[in-house]
Amino acid sequence: MQVHTHTFDVVVIGAGGAGLMAALYASRNQAKTAVISKLYPTRSHTGAAQGGIGAALGNLEEDHPEWHAFDTVKGSDYLGDQDAIEFMCYQAPEIVYELEHMGVPFDRTPDGRIMQRRFGGHTNNKTGKPVRRACHAADRTGHMILQTLYQQNLRQGTHFFNEFYVTDILFHEGRVAAVVAYELATGDLHVFHTKAAIIATGGWGQLWEVTSNAKTLTGDLPAVLLRRGLPLEDMEFFQFHPTGIFKLGILITEGVRGEGGVLINDLGERFMEKYAPTVKDLASRDVVSRAIYLEVKAGRGIGGGKYVYLDVRPETVNKYAKLDGRTNPDGTPYVVTEEILRKKLPDIIDFCKTYLGIDPMKEPIPVQPTAHYAMGGIPTTIKAEVIRDENNTVVPGLYAAGEVACVSVHGANRLGTNSLLDIVVFGKVAGKEAAAYAKQASLAPLPKDAADFTREQLERIKNGRGNERVAHIVAEMKEVMQEYVGVFRTEEGLDKALEKIRELKERFQHISITDKSSKYNLELMEAWEASNMLDLAEVTALSARNRTESRGAHWREDYPKRDDQNWLKHTLIWMENGKHRFAYKPVVITKWQPKERVY
Ligand SMILES: Cc1cc2nc3c(=O)[nH]c(=O)nc-3n(C[C@H](O)[C@H](O)[C@H](O)COP(=O)(O)OP(=O)(O)OC[C@H]3O[C@@H](n4cnc5c(N)ncnc54)[C@H](O)[C@@H]3O)c2cc1C
Repeated sequence: MQVHTHTFDVVVIGAGGAGLMAALYASRNQAKTAVISKLYPTRSHTGAAQGGIGAALGNLEEDHPEWHAFDTVKGSDYLGDQDAIEFMCYQAPEIVYELEHMGVPFDRTPDGRIMQRRFGGHTNNKTGKPVRRACHAADRTGHMILQTLYQQNLRQGTHFFNEFYVTDILFHEGRVAAVVAYELATGDLHVFHTKAAIIATGGWGQLWEVTSNAKTLTGDLPAVLLRRGLPLEDMEFFQFHPTGIFKLGILITEGVRGEGGVLINDLGERFMEKYAPTVKDLASRDVVSRAIYLEVKAGRGIGGGKYVYLDVRPETVNKYAKLDGRTNPDGTPYVVTEEILRKKLPDIIDFCKTYLGIDPMKEPIPVQPTAHYAMGGIPTTIKAEVIRDENNTVVPGLYAAGEVACVSVHGANRLGTNSLLDIVVFGKVAGKEAAAYAKQASLAPLPKDAADFTREQLERIKNGRGNERVAHIVAEMKEVMQEYVGVFRTEEGLDKALEKIRELKERFQHISITDKSSKYNLELMEAWEASNMLDLAEVTALSARNRTESRGAHWREDYPKRDDQNWLKHTLIWMENGKHRFAYKPVVITKWQPKERVY
C-alpha cells in the first residue's frame, strides 16, 4: 500500500448535508478545505430525505420558534439540551431562507412563499393541534438540499476526495494531527496532515435488519473514535420510524400522514386515536412505533401479520379530515384529490409501485417500524467541538456535526424535519468554528508511522485464512439487534444480544475474504465496516442495558416508567482495552422543566 501525504487547514469527513455545509463555511472563511467521502457526495443519505425541513416561518398559519423549541424539548422526552434546541429553532427561519437563496427549489404557496406541511410532534402550542412547519420540495427535500450544497462547494473551490474511506484520526498531545484514508480506486493510503477535522459521517441504521438507512451507514467514525479512547453519548437512543415498507424498511415519509394519511389495523380502526387522542397519527415517532407494535402484539396486525396499513387514498384522507374538522388556512374544509396527492408525494407513489407493485392512491400501504435515526453519537458542545469527558473538556481541532454528532438537540427521540435542520445549522457552526481554530493553530507534528494502524487492520482482514464469512456475521448481528435492541427491550433480551455480539466479535477474528486485489476492493471495505458495526452494536446494547428506565425511543419493558430522579442525564461510554466504562453528563435545562408527555 503506497502512502500519499496532503496538507490542509480543515478536513471534513463526509459529504452529506452536514459535511457540505461545514465545508462551505470553512472554505468561505479562508480555510484550505478538503472533503473526504466514501461516497460520491450526491449519493450521501441526505439525498434520500423526503418530507421536509422544520422552521417556524408561519407562512400558512401562526407559528413561533419558541413553539418549535418546546415541541423539540417535549419530543426529546426532556433529554435534549435546551440551550442547543433553542439555538437551532431560532436559527431555523434564517437558514431555510439561506438555503432558498442558494437555490433550493422549495414548493410554493399560491402567493409565492415557501410551502409548509404538517409533521409528527410539531404543534400549535395554544391548541395542541398539528401545525404546518415542514418546508419541502415535493418529497425530495434532502435531494434538493444536497445538490444545492454540492454546487455551492464546487463554486467555492472546496477540494473533494471521493470514494476515500476515512479509517483513522491521529492526535498529538490530545489535539488533531491527521486524518487517514483508504482510496478505493487504487488501494493506496492517504495521510491528511491538518489543523482541524470535522466528522460528518451520518448514522448507523445498518446495525438493524429492517432499516430505512443506506447500505453505507455503518458508523465508521464513531468506531474510530472509540478505538482512539474517546467516548460516545446516548447510544441507547435509536429511533424506529413507524412507517417503513413492510419487510424492506424503505421509508414512507411522515409527510404522508402530514397530508392526511392514517394508520389502520386489521379491524379497520384508526388506532392512533386511542394512543394519542389530540394529534393522533401525528404523535412523535416513538409513540407511533410502539402503538404499531402493541397492535400487532394484540393480534390486530393485518391478517394477524406483523404490519399495519398506512392509508393515503383520497377518500380515506377526506373522510378522516372531515371527522377531525380539519380546515385549510382560510377556514374552508380540508379536501384532497388524487391529483394533489400525486404532486405532493411523487417519490412515495413511485416507491410503492417499484417495491410493492401497488398504487397507494388505490390501495393502502403495508408498513412496519424501521430503524431510522441515531439520536446519540459523538458528544459535542453547542459550538460543534468534540468533547472527551463529562466535564465537557474539548478535543482541540476536532468537530462533529449532523447525525453522527450528539449535541444534543434530539435527546431521547427526534422529531421529523429536525435532522435536515440540525445538519445545516450545526454544519455551519462546525465550518465556521473549525476555520477560526485553524487560523490561529499550527499543524501538529505528524507521526512517522501515521498510516500503520490502518494498514495493520486492513492487512489482517486481507490475510485472514479462517472459515468465517463477513456476510453471515453481519446478518446474525442484525437479527439480534432487531429482536432485542429494537422498539422494546428487557434486561434478559439485552443480555442475549450482548452474548451474541461478543461471540460475533470473536468469530470476526477468523474471517477470510475472497477478493485479494488492491483496486476497488469493496469486499475488504465491507469487512472493515462490519468491524465498526460490531463495536457500535456492543456499546448500543450495553448503554441500553445500563439505562433502567423508559424514555423516548428507549423503552424497557422491565422499567416502563421514565425516571427523572435517576436518569435525567446523558450517558457517555468508553471502550478501553476491550472493556467499557460509563460516565454521565447533566441535561441542560433553560426554561422547560420535565413534565409528562401527552399527545
Ligand atoms: C430515507 C430517509 C428519509 C429521511 N427524511 C428526512 C426528512 O424528511 N427530514 C429530516 O429532517 N430528516 C430526514 N431523514 C434524516 C436525515 O436525512 C439524516 O439524518 C441526515 O441527512 C444526515 O445527514 P449527515 O450529513 O449527517 O449524513 P449523511 O447524509 O448520511 O452523509 C454521510 C456522509 O459520510 C460519508 N462517510 C461515512 N463514513 C465514511 C468514512 N468512513 N469515510 C469517508 N466518508 C464517510 C458518506 O460518504 C456520506 O457522504 C431521513 C433519513 C432517511 C434515511
